[in-house]
Order: sequence, then C-alpha cells, then structure tokens
Amino acid sequence: MEKLPYEKPYIKKLHGGVMNKFGGRSGVQPVKSIDGVLVRTLIENYGSPVFVLSEKQIRKNYRSAYRAFSTRYPKVQFAWSYKTNYLKAVCQIFHQEGSWAEVVSGFEYQKAIGNGIPGNKIIFNGPGKSNDELKTAIENDSLIHIDHFEELNQLLALSEELANKPRVAIRVNMDTGVYPLWDRFGFNYENGEAWTALSKVVDSGKLQLVGLHCHIGTYMLTTDAYGIAANKLCALAFNCQTQLNHKIDYIDMGGGFPSTNTLKGAYLPGQDTVPSVDDFAEVITSTLLNFGFANEDLPTLILESGRVLIDDAGYLLGSVIANKRLSAGKKALIVDFGVNILFTSFWYEHQVSPAQDFMPHTENMAIYGPLCMNIDVIRESINLPLLNPGDHVVVHKVGAYNMTQWMQFITLRPAVVLIDEQQRTHLIRSNETLAYIEEQELVPTHLKNTK
Ligand SMILES: *Cc1c(COP(=O)(O)O)cnc(C)c1O
Repeated sequence: MEKLPYEKPYIKKLHGGVMNKFGGRSGVQPVKSIDGVLVRTLIENYGSPVFVLSEKQIRKNYRSAYRAFSTRYPKVQFAWSYKTNYLKAVCQIFHQEGSWAEVVSGFEYQKAIGNGIPGNKIIFNGPGKSNDELKTAIENDSLIHIDHFEELNQLLALSEELANKPRVAIRVNMDTGVYPLWDRFGFNYENGEAWTALSKVVDSGKLQLVGLHCHIGTYMLTTDAYGIAANKLCALAFNCQTQLNHKIDYIDMGGGFPSTNTLKGAYLPGQDTVPSVDDFAEVITSTLLNFGFANEDLPTLILESGRVLIDDAGYLLGSVIANKRLSAGKKALIVDFGVNILFTSFWYEHQVSPAQDFMPHTENMAIYGPLCMNIDVIRESINLPLLNPGDHVVVHKVGAYNMTQWMQFITLRPAVVLIDEQQRTHLIRSNETLAYIEEQELVPTHLKNTK
C-alpha cells in the first residue's frame, strides 16, 4: 500500500451520543474504480468532473426488471423514458434489450426516430404536442397518449386530412392514496372525465383507442398505489369492452419506481426502505390477472420505468478544490462540480466517496460546488475523512435525470463516458467548449464595436 498522507493534529469538540472517532467506524469506503476501471485513469483521460455510466449495470437493471414482470404476466413491454437519460448510447442499450421509446416532446420524438426506432414503437406522452408533431406521429403510426380535450379535438381534426387512423391512448389521473394528487396530467378517473374522453374517442370512429395510460408519480414508496391505479385502469378497460364493445390492447402503468437513492430528510437509507421492482410487479400483475378478463382479453402491460433502471449505473467523478472553515467552525469542502450538473442533489442525499485511501478519522462537513451561488450545495452535512486539494471523489447513483436536466451555467458541462461489459471506456458525449456554447450566439452589427 502507498504511504498515507500526513494529517496534521487538531482539537475537536466531542458530541455526546453521536458517533465520533472513539465511538465507531466511519463506514466510509474508498471507491477507487468503477467496473474495474480506475477512477484516477478515468479523470486523467476524460477530465474532471466527468460522468461515468456502467453498461453492465444498466443491462442488469433492465433484465431483472423485465424478469420481475415477465415471469408473472404473459405480455410485457418496456418503453425507455427518454427524459430520464436520452444520450444516444444509453437509449441504444435499452433498445437493444427490447425497449420501445417513451417520449414527452417533439424533440425527444425526433431523437427516437434518429435512433432508428420504428414509429409504431414510440409512445408519445406529454401535455404539449404541436399540430405538426402530432401529424408526424400519426403518419408514423406511433402511440399517442392524449392529455386533454384540446389534444383530442386536434387529433379528430387531423384524422380528417390524414390516411392513417391515429392510434391513441387516454392518459388517466386518479386518487391512488398518495398525496398531493398528481392530477394535472391526463383525464381524471373519479369525476368521470376519463370515461367521457374514452367514450368520445370510441364513438368518434375516427381514432383507434388502443390503450389506457397512467403515470401516478415518481419515486413512489408504496406499492399499494400501483394496485389501486391498475385496478382503476382495468375497470375502464373492462367497461369499455362491455359497454362500448371495444377492446383495449394495452394498459400502460408509466414509471415512478424508486431508485435506491436516499431522499433528503429520510431517516434510513433508500437501499433499506424502497420496495423492489419485484414488489411492484407482484401488485400490478396480480391486479391485472385477478380483475376478471378472459385469458385472451388480457391487455399487454407496458412499463415506462426511468430512474429505477439507470440511477445506480451512473457516477459523477470530481476533484477537491479546497477545504474551508465556516464562521461557526464547521468544515466545508469545495469540489469542481456544482448543482448545475447534479440537479438531483436538490432532493437526494447522494453518497459521496473518496477515490483514494484515507486516514480513519472523519469529520462532519458541507460539500459545496464551484459556482458563485449560495444554492450550490452538493451535501449540507456528510461525514468524510480529510480530503486534500486534487484528491478525487465519486458521487454515486446519479444516472437518472442529471444528464438531461443539467444546465450550462457558469461552467461548461463535462464529458460522459460509458464503460462497456468488457471494461472498455467510450466517450459518449464530449465535454462542452466555449465554441460550442457560442455557436448559437449572434451579435448585431451596432454592438460589434468594443470602443
Ligand atoms: C418521467 C416519466 C416516466 C419515467 O418516470 P420515472 O419516475 O423516472 O420512472 C415515465 N412516464 C412518463 C409519462 C413520464 O413523464
């Protein structure tokens, strides 16, 4: 082992009842490599900070989620939620595994087409679809999930001018016992709006009602809510069959299963508290199987899971810039990545690990990013050993939403690297440059003079 760095002695107040350096092990473990590739090498080759994704973990997550459902139910289809992470390489992994694409904007729709996904395997969700976007989706035979009556009318109008009969589903919101209610998307179940929309579609004869959809929330901690939701969608499908003589092909339960990240303020780590995909699968599939459909009438079950399939496959590697003492004596660590590239630090207590050996003593500290903004806090409070400027840290479970919600603000966005199953590394998004950002800018002639 290398010689450990010298750490200068200091005096520290002991807090009664709290684990301290005499009370127990810190529990901090170094993370020196990811899938067998050294953190140091990754930073040397791709810069700091850098996002790293594990292809092995993504495939493992997908396969175990697919297995959880397909071993319990005969007809299962996953659709990758693009907004969770729409880097091309990431989408292709899911598509290779058999996932369709689930998109929520025209931009994401174009990305799915660009990735080679056939139109009839694209689910088009979201409350804001333009006429042109809907037209393209109809021509491509995509599955359009209707959010509101305006959209329904838009589709009815478009169906007059186009050859294809639009294939649509109704997005349904409902009371699942989880509050506040997510009732802003789709049509409400309890007040009868969902049934009105559904009958309007069927009665029109101009649209093909193929599915029913819900996405009841995100990072859902209760499986019961999915049982209630599945039951309500089944009731709609069943009534549609018996009262309108129209059979529904699929029930889409959306996403929302939690990753094992720990929410801020949670008493126990997410790892120990969140239900597993198997738990969700059990509730959803048993509801569908026991509802009373004839075997041949069982709807296909579609899932649009996002975060649960990729969060733990993502890492953010960075470096320590400086140590500080705040006015009240608390320690602070400044690192080279900010909340602008790690949005999820607003609601998760991300695990931050040193990437090299360290002394056993730990101290409570805050971790700040490099932005000149008070909100740039990666962790308000975390116990870590002494880290010196230039040392590396690894932030874990950051694969979901960070690489789509990140923003270019004060600093440039870093590279993203994929480690494949043979432990080879691939650059899948280059780090941004000043030229890349300024490419979109124009300066009017009268402002070109700097004098
Ligand atoms: C965001 C979203 C998803 C994915 O949600 P997760 O919570 O990441 O699983 C699925 N479906 C729809 C309609 C969404 O908006």
